[in-house]
Amino acid sequence: MWSVPKVLFFTVVAATNMTIVHMLDFCQKADSECQSQDISPSALQPRAQILNSRWNASVLSLIQNLNHFRVSSEKLRGAFPIDEVQGNAVRTVKNCIFSESSPTPLKGRLRLAAVSKDVLEGLLDLDMSVTQSEEFLLYTSGGRCLPGSQPLAHRYGGHQFGYWAGQLGDGRAHLLGQYTNRKGDTWELQLKGSGKTPYSRSGDGRAVVRSSLREFLGSEAMHFLGVPTSRAASLVVSDEPVLRDQFYDGNVKTERGAVVLRIAKSWFRIGSLEILSRSGELDLLRKLLNFVIEEHFPSIQSKDSDKYLVFYSRVVNDTAHLMAQWASVGFAHGVCNTDNFSLLSITIDYGPFGFMESYNPGFVPNTSDDEGRYSVGAQASVGLFNLDKLLDALRPLLTAGQQLAAETVLKGYVDIYKTRIHHLFKAKLGLLGDDVEDDYIIALLLQVMEDTQADFTMTFRQLSEASAQQLHKHNFTQAWALEDLSSHGHFADWLSTYLQRLSRQSHDKDVERRGRMKGVNPRYVLRNWMAESAIREAEMNNFSEVVLLHRILSSPFITQTSAEEAGYAARPPRWAQGLKVSCSS
Ligand code: AMP
Ligand code: MG
Repeated sequence: MWSVPKVLFFTVVAATNMTIVHMLDFCQKADSECQSQDISPSALQPRAQILNSRWNASVLSLIQNLNHFRVSSEKLRGAFPIDEVQGNAVRTVKNCIFSESSPTPLKGRLRLAAVSKDVLEGLLDLDMSVTQSEEFLLYTSGGRCLPGSQPLAHRYGGHQFGYWAGQLGDGRAHLLGQYTNRKGDTWELQLKGSGKTPYSRSGDGRAVVRSSLREFLGSEAMHFLGVPTSRAASLVVSDEPVLRDQFYDGNVKTERGAVVLRIAKSWFRIGSLEILSRSGELDLLRKLLNFVIEEHFPSIQSKDSDKYLVFYSRVVNDTAHLMAQWASVGFAHGVCNTDNFSLLSITIDYGPFGFMESYNPGFVPNTSDDEGRYSVGAQASVGLFNLDKLLDALRPLLTAGQQLAAETVLKGYVDIYKTRIHHLFKAKLGLLGDDVEDDYIIALLLQVMEDTQADFTMTFRQLSEASAQQLHKHNFTQAWALEDLSSHGHFADWLSTYLQRLSRQSHDKDVERRGRMKGVNPRYVLRNWMAESAIREAEMNNFSEVVLLHRILSSPFITQTSAEEAGYAARPPRWAQGLKVSCSS
């Protein structure tokens, strides 16, 4: 097993001698284009037809009556055997991908804490007026089933903190069905916190307000930062009491249940394949892989004898890109188990995640992660570990030659990651073209940031906002993060090297440099204290701060008056220092 050097996030050495394997070419394009795309003409044909017909039918209006919003699980039910046992009794499940399981309605009054207009209108074709109805609250919390819905709970396993944990599955999530929108895109709708399933183990099937609010805001924030992720449509808060020992210290408190309606193109994970491979259910493993490839990797030919190898190389490539994107915004997932790693390489299952504030490769957002296994700086290595587990799951379906080729593919992961992160950090510094000094400029800045505990987000943002003239003059009166940096003995050297490098970009105007940098360096990320403050208000049924944060984080690259007034780009308040997040949710 190879390991990514611990410092990889930061050393960003330019990649040379890249391993050339199936489909693994480094993408030189803009961020949003860098995930592998399936745009073969044959793939586009049926999509275009669907798009035309649906467009004609619904171009004029969004859906205003929820009874007309139909979801379906027919495709999933048609593709796979369903668990023969009915009911939510906790059990070991075999020979299926899904079990039938209905949400358990939440008790007490329901309150709509937040909705995502972008998701409802843009992805689900729903008019915002539907959110005013009582029905909406019921549909989005598990109190009533959407038209067409036959809810399912997915069976999966996973490696947790390095060890095989056996069957996990959707213990508190219900897949309501798929919805194909008028653009022709199919989304899978899931409720999280909607009650017990056969996979609940000793859990109560619920999710509390604090974790649900964090998932809602966290996933939406990541989307608007340009990082591939699941999305959140709504957050409903109930009065149902839910007992939680938040910090596992014997201090059990009564909290309240909440449900997030979240959507993704697919919720299949590495653990979805692992459980089938481990239990020797190879026909089902093949079936699931064929389904995932056909639905989500249409450029891979179904008749290609190397299709599983090509699929694997795509996941390796896209996961390397995702890990680099996480690092570029200082995002630490918190629980990078294989059951939380998507086969589509999107960010899923938001738990004790955190955006790093003071720059520290050892930043661990999850206080339950004593050993710092999932620190922000370890995520690249963890991605490699998880991909190795994926390869283990695929091995029974690969020939000896294909397994060797897949191992070579995996060896290429490090270079893909290094190249992408180098590219991302160059963009964060506004550097164009290639220069021998680029690695040094990036590495030294990160070292100075680490030594001075400078704020990760605001250092890059303030470098984006300051003019070259201000930087030359060391004029940091409005720039608290740069002020912190400037106390370092090497900062002046770094700054002059950086400014010289910028001055060599002969066709680049300073205003253009700043514009470019402001487009990739957010001014606002979901800092723990911001989420905590919104949680405290939400616990008292005041959701205005969630709504405000959601709005602000939907345009993280644009300076907004309300965000400035709330201090979201200011030095974090003192009380934020002691904040902790645990696995409990
Ligand atoms: P997570 O850490 O949220 O990714 O969860 C790991 C596994 O535990 C998943 O299978 C979850 O569905 C399950 N799980 C976590 N919390 C609960 C709960 N309160 N009730 C039932 N299952 C849970
Ligand atoms: Mg999970």
